[in-house]
Amino acid sequence: MYDVIVIGAGPAGCIAAKKLGESGYKVLLTEKMSLPREKSCSGILIPKSIQMVEKEFGKIPESVFSHPPINQGIVINSAHGKEYRFESEGYNIWRNLFDQWMSLKAEYAGCTLQTLTSATVCEEEKDHIRVTFARMPAVKGGNDLKNGKPEIFHEKARIVISCDGASSRIRRDILKSPSDHIITYQTFCKGSIDLDYGFFHAFLDPQFSQYDAWFNVKDEYLIMGVGVKDASLMKHYHSKFVSYLKSQHNAQIDSFEKEEVGLMPHITPEFRVDLGKGRVLFAGDAAYLLNPMGEGISSALASGSAAAEAIKTEFASGSDVNPSNVLNTYESNLKGEIEYMIRQWKFLSTISPEFRSFQNNAHRFP
Ligand SMILES: Cc1cc2nc3c(=O)[nH]c(=O)nc-3n(C[C@H](O)[C@H](O)[C@H](O)COP(=O)(O)OP(=O)(O)OC[C@H]3O[C@@H](n4cnc5c(N)ncnc54)[C@H](O)[C@@H]3O)c2cc1C
Repeated sequence: MYDVIVIGAGPAGCIAAKKLGESGYKVLLTEKMSLPREKSCSGILIPKSIQMVEKEFGKIPESVFSHPPINQGIVINSAHGKEYRFESEGYNIWRNLFDQWMSLKAEYAGCTLQTLTSATVCEEEKDHIRVTFARMPAVKGGNDLKNGKPEIFHEKARIVISCDGASSRIRRDILKSPSDHIITYQTFCKGSIDLDYGFFHAFLDPQFSQYDAWFNVKDEYLIMGVGVKDASLMKHYHSKFVSYLKSQHNAQIDSFEKEEVGLMPHITPEFRVDLGKGRVLFAGDAAYLLNPMGEGISSALASGSAAAEAIKTEFASGSDVNPSNVLNTYESNLKGEIEYMIRQWKFLSTISPEFRSFQNNAHRFP
């Protein structure tokens, strides 16, 4: 029996597992992919993320940085073409290497890390949770989840933290509700453009996306991306966005290197933050915590950390775990983070009609 099972080794899962592991609890951190795994992400750590990561994991190693290593901030181009420049020094990292570094730190802190191990079901039993896992055989060369027959097994824990990302299977199963997503599509090309490589550039003109479009640079790659609700339109919007970058910003594409599809939670006015049910807490994207322009690493770290602290408080009380105590403490630990998120969404609503409804509906957040 584990004290805690943490599902998903992204930022939310790694910080939660590390905090609990180093406090002496028996922790299982499971990840469905082999590590390092790819995660579609611009890889920008805002100062808040850097502060949390360095406090918990130590100095971020140079090996995880992409070039330029410093992100100088974000330039938001409103739906009416007005430019808002926010300067703030962050880091530019590769998520596969960054997340692997954090997961190894969690392992060194005493957690058991199991990769290629996907949690499929969480079942509440009398005084614990029973988690079913499917473990794929390791195959040479990485993450071939379709290769081979999975081994099915079960583990028990007093509490589970589900940090399994935007499409969280565990959240969907427990809340019996489908996830609501934005699908992201980005291409990596070599070439040149007249936008400042030090900044992340967001474009809110609805001609280019159903959410936002963006440009940023990592190593030798020019990355151009769009967010859509309807996956069948992603290439259509992307091609309009690229044409705009060619005509208005002198984008020259010498070679196409790769494309990437990802998911992020779709934050809508009707949206509620669900932080868990019974003995299962949700953190990070699985809890639908996301800041405007898709910045989610800081809220993943903050929620993973707040979930771990809530569990530590309950375990320290010495009695049997009372799941509602844990959930209440978790919600109260995260109150400041959610208020910060609301302020950000409200600001965005002032510069883009797509997000305007947030202004009047922010009270729907708990
Ligand atoms: C295109 C794009 C660009 C972005 N750019 C930025 C950015 O620049 N800066 C920023 O702060 N945020 C960015 N984000 C958002 C950020 O990537 C997420 O908010 C963040 O990764 C959330 O962390 P997490 O730990 O909740 O989930 P994730 O990082 O998604 O980690 C979840 C982990 O769980 C694993 N998993 C899934 N299901 C299971 C299962 N059943 N069992 C076991 N393991 C499982 C997954 O393999 C994954 O490793 C971006 C997102 C997208 C899509």
